[in-house]
Amino acid sequence: MRLLVATRNAHKLGEIRALLPGVEIVGTDAFPEVPDPEETGATFEANAIIKAEAWRDATGLPALADDSGLEVDALGGAPGVLSARYAGTHGDTAANNAKLLRALDGVPEGRRGARFVCALALAAPGAPTRVLRGECPGRILHEAHGAHGFGYDPLFAPEGHDRSFGELPEAVKATLSHRARAFAQAREAWGLA
Ligand code: IMP
Repeated sequence: MRLLVATRNAHKLGEIRALLPGVEIVGTDAFPEVPDPEETGATFEANAIIKAEAWRDATGLPALADDSGLEVDALGGAPGVLSARYAGTHGDTAANNAKLLRALDGVPEGRRGARFVCALALAAPGAPTRVLRGECPGRILHEAHGAHGFGYDPLFAPEGHDRSFGELPEAVKATLSHRARAFAQAREAWGLA
C-alpha cells in the first residue's frame, strides 16, 4: 500500500514511518507544487480531515494526516489546536515553550495536568473519510528537561514517569505517545500495517 503522509514536520514523519513499518510512505516533499491547506478547524479532528482530504484531492493517493497538540488543564485546554503557534509564530518552539512555562508560573504540582492529543484522518479516493484520536496524559514540568523529540517534549512528563519526553528514550515515547496510541487504533480499525 502507498500512503501519502500529510506532514511537513520531518521529525513527525520519522515517528510515523516507525509506527507503520509495513507501509510504503510518500512524503509531501514528493509534491513540492502542492500548497498546504489552511488549518481553520476548531478541533484536532477537523484539522486532520482538512489536511487528509486536501492531500488526497491534490495527489489522488490515499492520504493520512495527523493533527496534534497539547491541552493543559489549568489553561482551560490551551494551547490546543493553536499548539504550533501558541506564541504567535508557527513552529517557534523556544517561544512556545517559554510562553507555556510563564502561563503556569506559580501553578503547583498537582494542578499541572495536561495531555497530548493526536487526531488521525484517512482520506482515500472514493471512500468516506475516517478519523480517530489518541491521547497521552501527563503533566507540565517546572522547567525544560532533555533534548529528545520536538515541540513541548522537554516540558511534558507522561503519566507514570518523572522524566520528560525530552529525556526518556525515543523508544519509550514510541510506545506511550498520543501518536503511538492513535496509530495502534488505526492499524487495528483501518487495517494499516
Ligand atoms: P500540527 O503539526 O499542526 O499537528 O501541530 C502540532 C504542534 O503540537 C507541534 O508544533 C508541537 O508544538 C505540538 N506537538 C504535537 N505533538 C507533539 C509531540 O509529540 N511532542 C511535542 N510537541 C508536540
